[in-house]
Amino acid sequence: GERSPVRRFNLNNVTITPDPIANREAVLILTPMARFYQEYWDNLLKLDYPHDLISLGFILPKTREGNAATAALQAQVTKTQKGPLQNRFRSVVIERQDFDPPIISQDEGERHKMENQKVRRASMSRARNSLLFTTLGVDTSWVLWLDADIIETPPSLIQDLAAHDKPLIVPNCYQRYTDPETGKPAERPYDFNNWQDSPTAQEIAARMEPDEIILEGYREMATYRSLMAYMADQEDERDVEVPLDGVGGTALLVKADVHRDGAMFPPFSFYHLIETEGFAKMAKRLGWSATGLPNYKVYHYNE
Ligand code: GDP
Ligand code: MN
Repeated sequence: GERSPVRRFNLNNVTITPDPIANREAVLILTPMARFYQEYWDNLLKLDYPHDLISLGFILPKTREGNAATAALQAQVTKTQKGPLQNRFRSVVIERQDFDPPIISQDEGERHKMENQKVRRASMSRARNSLLFTTLGVDTSWVLWLDADIIETPPSLIQDLAAHDKPLIVPNCYQRYTDPETGKPAERPYDFNNWQDSPTAQEIAARMEPDEIILEGYREMATYRSLMAYMADQEDERDVEVPLDGVGGTALLVKADVHRDGAMFPPFSFYHLIETEGFAKMAKRLGWSATGLPNYKVYHYNE
């Protein structure tokens, strides 16, 4: 028969459960991308959550580097979406950032300088919000924020995190490197934005001007927060949970209802927090708390 011009969604059928594969729950993977790494794409392809339930969304800056990354990404998307059926994703959206003067490419050292952080993270917030609000669907159950430089995760990342049934959940983001002393492969913590709050950080915040923000991982601003980066313990099980007050966005699984409730990435000082850390605070104010998995590791590219 003729196709109805009205698309109907029965939202009562959209579930958000600890068994998302059995319940055919749609996942939206969102990635802000300044550089394209083949290792990121290869890892994405290896995720064994059914690809026909995964939508991908990307946002890239309009810089020279962003143009190159867009071309490389488009080539891989085309290849995958024309390839074997079981590898193909449900849909792919690629956006270009048309707000903010583009931030010229910064290497790891430069972008981590404290004075560069506020402008950079405000801009990142706008990129994340813009991507989120244009891609979140009525039938999206889960949103996985995954940075473009996360190059290694367990293939079962999505279902493993979802099994915890938490509104916001983050694995521990590490970085592999070669130990210069032993010449042997080693790993070190990378993402310091997953933390539990401290009285010292509260006092720092209380003395700040309204638009000032607290940054984590800087000697100049010792917060004495408890960082999940340092909570990994080989003796413990992989699924040990810790409560968190701040989260990073390198890999972060969110129940879509949290975003639908209005929690986003503040591009301004929100309780002296910004971007993903501000998001955790905003979610908490809406009644959704954050959880971390110190022993469940994902790996960041080493520049
Ligand atoms: P860091 O690892 O915390 O130092 O942050 P990154 O520089 O890796 O940025 C986090 C994520 O945002 C990565 O996926 C980057 O590729 C991406 N990214 C960085 N700068 C921009 C930007 O200006 N626009 C967009 N859309 N993405 C960006
Ligand atoms: Mn990164």
